[in-house]
Amino acid sequence: MYHSNMQNLYAYRNERSFHKRTCDKCGKSVVSIFPQDSVYKAYCNDCWWHDQFDPLASGRDFDFQKPFFEQFDELLKATPLVSLVIGDSQNSDYTNYAMWNKNCYMVSSSDYNQDCFYSSYIFRCRDSADCIFTSDCELSYGCVDTKKSYGSVFVQNCSSVNNSLFCYACRNCENCIGCVNLRGQKNHIFNKPATFEEVDKLRKWLFDSRINIRRFFDDFQKFKIKFPHKAAEMESCDNCTGDRLVRCKNLDNCFDMVESEDCQNCILGIGAKDCTNSIGVPDAELCHQVVGCPGNYGIRNSVLIWPKSSYLEYCLFTRASHNCFGCVSLHKNEFCILNKQYTKEEYSVMVDKIKDHMIKTGESDQFFPIAISPFAYNETAAQDYYHLSRDEALAQGYKWRDNYSAQIVAPGMPECATCGKSFKITSQEKALYGKIGLSSPDQCCDCRHNLLMSMRNPRHVWNRRCGNCGYDVESSFSEDMSEIVYCEKCYLKVV
Ligand SMILES: [Zn+2]
Ligand SMILES: [Zn+2]
Ligand SMILES: [Zn+2]
Repeated sequence: MYHSNMQNLYAYRNERSFHKRTCDKCGKSVVSIFPQDSVYKAYCNDCWWHDQFDPLASGRDFDFQKPFFEQFDELLKATPLVSLVIGDSQNSDYTNYAMWNKNCYMVSSSDYNQDCFYSSYIFRCRDSADCIFTSDCELSYGCVDTKKSYGSVFVQNCSSVNNSLFCYACRNCENCIGCVNLRGQKNHIFNKPATFEEVDKLRKWLFDSRINIRRFFDDFQKFKIKFPHKAAEMESCDNCTGDRLVRCKNLDNCFDMVESEDCQNCILGIGAKDCTNSIGVPDAELCHQVVGCPGNYGIRNSVLIWPKSSYLEYCLFTRASHNCFGCVSLHKNEFCILNKQYTKEEYSVMVDKIKDHMIKTGESDQFFPIAISPFAYNETAAQDYYHLSRDEALAQGYKWRDNYSAQIVAPGMPECATCGKSFKITSQEKALYGKIGLSSPDQCCDCRHNLLMSMRNPRHVWNRRCGNCGYDVESSFSEDMSEIVYCEKCYLKVV
């Protein structure tokens, strides 16, 4: 139940699939998460945020002869949506769910970055590419769950690791290659001391060819599993279950959250309070079954709500609005149902009536059904966490986009060594690889993204035993995974 619910929510989160289309208002060519052939209307950011755009123009009466979701679907197709979810960025057209970025390309769910490419969930990074869940890094490539590192390539779960390659769970290290669980070391290869020259020679060999990198990548995976892994990544947490939690309190089954409390089944949030079953709840309070809902209060069953909204239900792409039900693209509105204005008194009577109606139609307190998601399954984050083939997705009622590529490509581009799809290497990107000293990629950005995502554990907690003391632990490593898993106490003794 938890996973099928989350899968539906993810299917409403298109983070990194970009298309070219024209704005349905001004006709300008824009980058958008909605392709030109989409049945949905999309405006460029200027037109969508303009005072002259009146979302109530598509407003309609509620029809008690029809199910609610059918009427919502019709409204969704009739109301202009925004091309990209961005704000205050410079020269960063191909970014989404992203704010305050400069000169970034193909970057999503990321803020405050400069000159970064093909990355997701990165914060305050510079001159980096192919990184996920990484912060405060520079001249880095292929980093996963890494922070405060410089010049490092394919490092995971590391912090303050500089000029190093293929390191896992290392801290304060420099010039190391293929190392695991090291603390404060310099010049090591496969956890053994080496000279600076030996490390440099190996680095040059690796940087020289992507084939060498792939071969080393496989060897390192085999080496890595011989070392103890921490059951769950938690830092200064109290009474929490989940993984990748920092300074949190009373979280149940939550992942990738910071300074949050009293939440259950939530993913991605800083400062979240009392939220349940949601993805993307930074500074959100009392929200339930929402996707992308920063800085809001009391929102239920909604997708992409900009900050400073409250008491919305079944709303999508809505800004600074309060007490609305089943609305799309609102801006500073109150007491609306299906984008139609009501008085305060009429509104509460109508909402009660609609909720009774939804009990009869079996829609009561359900999240939006998969069939009315404006996105194809394989262009959403659902595909990252619950991978489906085309046939499986269609059989389960999801939409599917054939010939999918996150990147817009023109003919004559190089072909991916793994999937054969054409992909693009921009001149800025080439310059960055030059600065790092790394050869250009021979795989498309989707294959590279999939590889990085596969390096992270599932967002699931299993009960298992510590491999050393035998005590019960909760871990994102299942018993089927071959890693040695230790409780925090035992882990700290060996590093
Ligand atoms: Zn426009
Ligand atoms: Zn590929
Ligand atoms: Zn133990």
